[in-house]
Amino acid sequence: MSKRDYYDILGVEKTADEKEIKKAYRKIALKFHPDRNPDDKEAEDKFKEAAEAYEILSDADKRARYDRFGHQGVGGASGGGGGGFGGMNMDDIFDQFGDIFGGAFGGGGGRRGGGGRGQRVARGSDLRIKIKMDLGEVANGVKKKIKVNKLVNAEGVTYSTCKTCNGQGRVLRVQQTMLGAMQTQSTCQSCHGTGKTIGKRPSGVDAQGLKRQEELVEINIPAGVEEGMQLKVGGKGNAGPFDGVPGDLLVVIEEEKNDLLQRDGQNLHYEAYVSFVDAALGQSIEVPLVEGKAKIKVESGTQSGKMLRLRGKGLPSVQGYGTGDLFVHINVWTPKKLSSEEKAILEKLRDSDNFQPKPSTKDEGFFSKMKDFFSG
Ligand SMILES: [Zn+2]
Repeated sequence: MSKRDYYDILGVEKTADEKEIKKAYRKIALKFHPDRNPDDKEAEDKFKEAAEAYEILSDADKRARYDRFGHQGVGGASGGGGGGFGGMNMDDIFDQFGDIFGGAFGGGGGRRGGGGRGQRVARGSDLRIKIKMDLGEVANGVKKKIKVNKLVNAEGVTYSTCKTCNGQGRVLRVQQTMLGAMQTQSTCQSCHGTGKTIGKRPSGVDAQGLKRQEELVEINIPAGVEEGMQLKVGGKGNAGPFDGVPGDLLVVIEEEKNDLLQRDGQNLHYEAYVSFVDAALGQSIEVPLVEGKAKIKVESGTQSGKMLRLRGKGLPSVQGYGTGDLFVHINVWTPKKLSSEEKAILEKLRDSDNFQPKPSTKDEGFFSKMKDFFSG
């Protein structure tokens, strides 16, 4: 999905200061405000888009990141694929930018005046945990049971209807304006808009009806994940206040380094060392795989730097199609010390015509080899 530039959305220059940005946002927000454009989806989208742009550009940190990295730099921080404000509802926008609307729509942060939405359900916060994976687990995927310390809805809590708002979650307010009395609604402060208050609560339970507790959560991690990837387990975060809905559990992948196999996306690389005797005469060698080993043949006359490919011995893709390869890089080992007997033997071979380097076009350097591999 291509996103519009935040400066374009607000119609300001890249050099605009805080005041200009705020002014531009206010103008757009008021123009596309849902109260002025009832049931107009396009206006609602514009309204949300402007809110997102303002959220980023009004924050010096986020703005700096956006200037450097674009949408990538500021998206996805809350997990779930970086949709940014895609899922943000109007109430959130009003709550966040209440001061912007000022008197234009009365108090209460300009909350939508019309009917329709009743009390809202409070959502619990997201939890983030890290999970270590070794190469074998990455190759096969893994089911892990993890103890998570989180807020849960406590048993024995009774809820009653909020008396301030009669369970509506909102309160009516009448305000005197230049145009006369204006009636507006705003979130009930007693119950945070949930319409509920807590009646009885056992000890150890907080004012929102929650308590902290360890819970065993089973997490299915698909094969092919990589360092830094974040998986979302819906509804396994902290429970929502006032018997609301739970947040999500965000699982961040930490990949353990493998001593022998180096990962490059779906492919693996292994550095094999063979003696020049084996390289000259040919020999089979053992190569480690993610699981187990493989025997491969080093042909006689193998040059240092040769690359052998074991198809399908890499890692699966996290999207579930294709498996990478294992590349074995042959390094011919030159002895660092020689006995006098060994020296004598080698001295005899020194002048042998077969020992004189005669590189053919087949024995090109590493980079042209890589090119051959991937073009062929
Ligand atoms: Zn209330």
